[in-house]
Amino acid sequence: MPKSKFVDFKAVKAAITMEQVLDHYGILDKFKRGTDSLSGPCPIHKGSNPTQFRISISKNVWNCFSECKHGGNVLDFIARMENVSIHAAALKAIEWFDLDPEAMSAGSEEEVGESSETPKAEDAPKPKPAAKAAPVQENGASNKPLKFRLDKLERSHAYLTTTRGLKLDTIVDFGAGFCAKGIMAGRIAIPIHNSAGEVVAYAGRWPCEPAADMPKYKLPPGFKKSLELFNIDRAINEPGPLVIVEGFFDCMKLHQFGYRKVVALMGSTMSAAQEELIKRHTDRNSQVIVILDEDEAGTAGREDIAVRLAKFCFVKTHVFDQPGTQPDQLSAEDVAEILGGAP
Ligand SMILES: [Zn+2]
Repeated sequence: MPKSKFVDFKAVKAAITMEQVLDHYGILDKFKRGTDSLSGPCPIHKGSNPTQFRISISKNVWNCFSECKHGGNVLDFIARMENVSIHAAALKAIEWFDLDPEAMSAGSEEEVGESSETPKAEDAPKPKPAAKAAPVQENGASNKPLKFRLDKLERSHAYLTTTRGLKLDTIVDFGAGFCAKGIMAGRIAIPIHNSAGEVVAYAGRWPCEPAADMPKYKLPPGFKKSLELFNIDRAINEPGPLVIVEGFFDCMKLHQFGYRKVVALMGSTMSAAQEELIKRHTDRNSQVIVILDEDEAGTAGREDIAVRLAKFCFVKTHVFDQPGTQPDQLSAEDVAEILGGAP
């Protein structure tokens, strides 16, 4: 959860659409799409009549004409679905949709008097524009956005804070946390987004030394990690050189140190689709810095990556003096030295 309790409800409402929220609950496909509407059974009173619940897409509001006899905005909807306050609903929305907690916090005072009546048309937030770029495909395949979110993740798990040295802000920023039940039970779940910002998978890191027959990381069956670059959705909006690292935690650590234009290969090699993604978001004046682990795989990987990326951008590779060094073990000073001061 974000540190600040002062939530800017307006900013949260403007950042998410009813459609995204239905998708979060995995019920979007129960809704019929009209020109500017979505209609279906009411998820709040769990009705079955397919026309009783209507959403105005442009106004980003909903109304149940049946049992609820009520309507409201996107936060009212979450509040009713979760049976919590608007404030708690906003905090949930920030978590579920990986909204920037900083940008979603009000400067001084919390808006406590938020009414839960249907908002007037003029103050209805505009829905978020559709995804900017189509996902990268390989042989016609792409990773489908998930229809669910893992919630109730334990953010302050010792593996993240103590073992990996991550601050709560960073952990929340990446939406990671310990998962107690479900497909990632017992693991640290890390959401992976495609370049349009949609969650396409959760990676599950076992939070201690795994037994011999147990994988360190678990990925959903059918998920192709070679089609994604971890953190690409946010990195592309940041200034400066693009830093490429191997792992999730290398990426989170550099982000924590203020280097936000960083992506992880989720391995020590670069796939053709990953190369294509980098190409799509760089030009001949772009700088790319490759910082892989200082081991056999990392050394081989960085040579190959440097040769391939050099065809369309400036590439620098970093070589560590100490064999075995991994970027996530570096101090802020080390990183500043390598990446040259300010991000
Ligand atoms: Zn209803």
